[in-house]
Amino acid sequence: MSSQKSYGEDLVVEEHLRHPLFLNALESVEEGGKLINADPNILARLKRPKRCIVVSVPVRMDDYNVRVFTGYRVQYNSTLGPYKGGIRYHQNVNMGEVVGLAALMMIKNSVMGLPYGGGKGGITVDPTKLSRTEKQNLTRRYTSEIGPFIGPNKDIPAPDVGTDPQTMAWMMDTYSQEQGYTQSGVVTGKPVEIGGSLGRNGATGLGVVYVAERIFERLGRSLKGSRIVVQGFGNVGSHAALYASDRGAKVIAVSDVSGGVFNGDGLNVKEMMDYVTKNKSLAGYDRGQRISNDELLLLDCDALFPCALEGVIGAHNAEKIKAKIIVEGANGPLTNEATKILHKKGVFIVPDIIANGGGVVVSYFEWVQDSMSFFWDEDEVNSRLKSIIIKACDRAYTMAQEKNVDMRQAAMAVSIDRLQRAMLLRGLYPR
Ligand code: NAD
Repeated sequence: MSSQKSYGEDLVVEEHLRHPLFLNALESVEEGGKLINADPNILARLKRPKRCIVVSVPVRMDDYNVRVFTGYRVQYNSTLGPYKGGIRYHQNVNMGEVVGLAALMMIKNSVMGLPYGGGKGGITVDPTKLSRTEKQNLTRRYTSEIGPFIGPNKDIPAPDVGTDPQTMAWMMDTYSQEQGYTQSGVVTGKPVEIGGSLGRNGATGLGVVYVAERIFERLGRSLKGSRIVVQGFGNVGSHAALYASDRGAKVIAVSDVSGGVFNGDGLNVKEMMDYVTKNKSLAGYDRGQRISNDELLLLDCDALFPCALEGVIGAHNAEKIKAKIIVEGANGPLTNEATKILHKKGVFIVPDIIANGGGVVVSYFEWVQDSMSFFWDEDEVNSRLKSIIIKACDRAYTMAQEKNVDMRQAAMAVSIDRLQRAMLLRGLYPR
């Protein structure tokens, strides 16, 4: 281990490197690094993004005025392969948030064993206020502006909050027009007709269930017959609830932004998904008792899947949680403080970087299929997903047992260990 002199590199002056999401990620990198006695030179590098790109995105709106939006792409680390991470359209997007999310993608891609570095992008915009034409114009101009920096072998964006397969189709088309030929591998999460993968839509929810099943098994229990509570009934939550009930679990409560529905005998998840497709939310669904989101989190159950927002379980409610197992479908639903309180109480927590990794794993499959122009059937996609996500879960579980720490710290350690080995082999930072 080398002793370090200070050259001032720790005097962070850039505002965006002080965003709470990024500071949280740095704390986790530090904790994971400590567990494996990581080289401080490696940690110093991993604690800074490699490249932060800011672009102005002028868009002609439907009223013919031009509005100039701000877009970002952060390429955090490429030790393990091309940058990979989603594009977020939200009014609160800023450089700090994007840096934090890009760091998390580096950690997640490493722990999942994927050949990717970490990246993330976004535009500060409320997409619900844009017409379809405005959203398309915005997406095309943003893609042009970041065009020199992305590509199937360089940096591969994907959907995130506020973007979807249609957005990816526009990105792929714009990039391909500028290159002069079709480059489907430049983004993932595309519609199946233009190079998307079967199984991508439900992949994150399915991954949540594969991991939950594995942890139940490890703890000498069974997902079948267990009582599950799911917060959030969007892409991740609804699929997680569906696949859990398909495997014989009793989903006793689910919720969305309109509140929760409880039924101790088990809810009909498929019927609820159809209801939401028709009515946009669970509001008005009456085949169960209505409860609030706060009450839902505190229900007595075998496993809780928080699949909505970040920070919903914190110091304020962690002591009152009755679930025995928590599988983080959303990004960051538990604060670091809550994780510590719950771990002490004996609650088993599967961290987001493993639990919701199903999305990026199937994105990886999409990229592989695009490069071969050979597409797999859905069973093949799902069985390969199962194999990768369970391996990652097992690696973290073993590390947690060996070091007597919680799964979040263990997963961080597994991630940093892989990055460190790769960096040393590449000769970037010899000891
Ligand atoms: P989504 O927009 O499809 O669904 C979000 C759900 O949460 C909706 O049902 C919404 O009504 C509900 N919700 C919003 N506010 C709520 C509140 N206060 N209480 C309860 N429910 C509330 O989003 P998604 O794609 O399902 O993503 C959910 C989370 O999972 C996010 O943290 C996202 O970053 C993460 N994630 C998603 C994927 C993916 O593939 N979609 C992959 C990895 C991580």
